[in-house]
Amino acid sequence: MGKIICIANQKGGVAKTTTAVNVGASLALMGQPVLLVDIDPQGNASSGLGIDKTKLERCIYDVLINDVPAEKVLISTEIRNLDLLPSTIQLAGAEVEMVSLMAREQILKRALAPLKERYQYIIIDCPPSLGLLTLNALAAADSVLIPIQCEFYALEGVGQLMNTIQLVQKHLNPNLKIEGVLLTMFDARLNLSIQVVDEVKKVFGNKVYKNIIPRNVRLSEAPSHGIPVVIYDPKSRGSEAYRELAKEVMGIE
Ligand code: ADP
Ligand code: MG
Repeated sequence: MGKIICIANQKGGVAKTTTAVNVGASLALMGQPVLLVDIDPQGNASSGLGIDKTKLERCIYDVLINDVPAEKVLISTEIRNLDLLPSTIQLAGAEVEMVSLMAREQILKRALAPLKERYQYIIIDCPPSLGLLTLNALAAADSVLIPIQCEFYALEGVGQLMNTIQLVQKHLNPNLKIEGVLLTMFDARLNLSIQVVDEVKKVFGNKVYKNIIPRNVRLSEAPSHGIPVVIYDPKSRGSEAYRELAKEVMGIE
């Protein structure tokens, strides 16, 4: 049975999408069948994998709102073992439309259930909010991976995220675990980065991944080429860090 990991933090720009794409691609390169689920209306994970969203006939909106089976909407990517459930801007309307649906927080969980046999990992890239889309991801997931950027106000909003996770555990998904906390965009030259690492370790202890993702320009270049950095520049420090993280996720550090 596959494991569903949701990548969440309501703050934008903390490397949720970068992590989803590169952990997903690294796992796939190691031979694991992976499905990446893009539930951000921005669709950055979809374009980061080279998908031309204007050419898509269907996207995850149809799965959530029109009851189209996820199997009919997912597409394969250029990377072997890596499939994608793409998102387009159409998804922006979904939160409002979902409000009136039955069991509105469990729609994604039900949609992904038939795919759990087929994939070893299903990775959900969340939007930067704690709205109904993120709630659906948390309700569907076995665990949540929380990226935190080594920047000013790193922990701002994380308390609110933890509260939301607790509410989901209480009411929607009692089995939801914290997969791990990932420090991103670390710059060893900055005291601030080092302070954030210390602070986050104080709060989350052994939940913090050993692998810290460095700030690396190759990581920011890769999306515009529509390929994960682990393929765009496999030798870069960013690639190395994400490959190692993928091993940590698999439990083979
Ligand atoms: P989110 O999905 O949380 O909004 P993104 O993954 O889109 O965040 O990352 C925000 C921006 O930072 C993107 O332009 C991305 O390419 C860049 N980025 C992410 N991680 C790194 C890193 N380790 N080094 C440099 N740039 C990064
Ligand atoms: Mg994103």
